[in-house]
Amino acid sequence: MNTKRIPLSVPNFPGNEVKYVSDAVASTWVSTAGPLIPKFEKAMADYIGHPYTVATNSGTSALHLSLLEIGVGRGDEVICAALTFIAAVNPVRFCGGEPVFVDCDKHFCMDPDSVQYFIDNYCEMQGDRLINKTTGAHVKAMIPVHVFGNMANMERLMDIAEKYNIKVVEDATESVGTFVTEGRYKGKHLGTIGHYGAFSFNGNKVMTTGGGGLAICGNATVQHHMHIMTEEAQDMSKKEDDLLFIHTDVGYNYRMNNIAAALGLAQLENLETFIKTKNENFKLYCELLNGKNGLRMIDYTPGIRSSMWFYCLYLDDCKISRNEMMTKLAERNIQSRPIWLLNPDQAPYRDSLCMPLPNARDYVDKIVNIPCSSNLTAEDVRIVCEEILDITK
Ligand SMILES: *Cc1c(COP(=O)(O)O)cnc(C)c1O
Repeated sequence: MNTKRIPLSVPNFPGNEVKYVSDAVASTWVSTAGPLIPKFEKAMADYIGHPYTVATNSGTSALHLSLLEIGVGRGDEVICAALTFIAAVNPVRFCGGEPVFVDCDKHFCMDPDSVQYFIDNYCEMQGDRLINKTTGAHVKAMIPVHVFGNMANMERLMDIAEKYNIKVVEDATESVGTFVTEGRYKGKHLGTIGHYGAFSFNGNKVMTTGGGGLAICGNATVQHHMHIMTEEAQDMSKKEDDLLFIHTDVGYNYRMNNIAAALGLAQLENLETFIKTKNENFKLYCELLNGKNGLRMIDYTPGIRSSMWFYCLYLDDCKISRNEMMTKLAERNIQSRPIWLLNPDQAPYRDSLCMPLPNARDYVDKIVNIPCSSNLTAEDVRIVCEEILDITK
């Protein structure tokens, strides 16, 4: 039985991380005014090939800022994913809006058919607005999440958005580094296709700044406004503002700090190596597990180069339940986790409008996330697979 602890997803600091962070601390620029924050914004912009980025203190705040720019306010509705981390939904409520939950596709992402089902059965156009007839609310936006490194069907979702005049905020928090290799958006990084995009650099994400995020938007004016909103809406471009503190709006304390940016700059240097390792390990998992003992690794969306943030083992026809699998893996020092409890089943959203969720409900009971850190070795993968095959034989 395995005795080495194999965690699910941990930070990996193989390069200049300690050096850049120590340098930042030594410089005494530790807060939101340091020079590395714009440097990090620019480095990320270069990496994703899109110039308008705003560094934030979390992915959640990047999503919130995007909804504020769209003007989501009291009573407005936003189409949200039932199956995803709750941080992709809460910002709607921060704005006073209401989520409407839709199902996922085979790759865990927002299902365009489910979105269309909501529109066809609940909504009508009134002028240039999509109105939910049952609530009278204006449906202003949708937040497709690129779950686990997959891609939501952006071609169809963008078509729907255009047809019904709704804005798209791509939650790419789990897909940093994923880009499109086929079709209309070939070459584009996830997060740069919709009207807004959000990345997260939390500790367990593909790359980390300790805590942090990135908002992506469409032009320099919006970028400037989003930046101001991260610093209590203090408009530093007004020349008297250094001393007067002129606040143009109700802003937030959402700016990334300089230590986080230092860590981010070092992590970005390693990102492609991380993704390479994650791709190799996924391939090995597939080789060792697919078709054995009723097990199957769920493949990533076709037509992308995925960052493969999390791996999903599907207990297709397996002898043991998801919970038994997780307990037995834990006994063997291997950390795993179930997919999220669905958002419409969580306390804040039990009364929210929700479309039928056949795909999401199937996945909830049958998926186990297995170790996927970017410093996981091939030997670790072999150990995990041996134990899984032993547990399920
Ligand atoms: C991690 C995550 C977020 C939030 O990012 P934080 O940086 O933790 O605020 C939002 N949405 C999804 C889908 C996530 O996985």
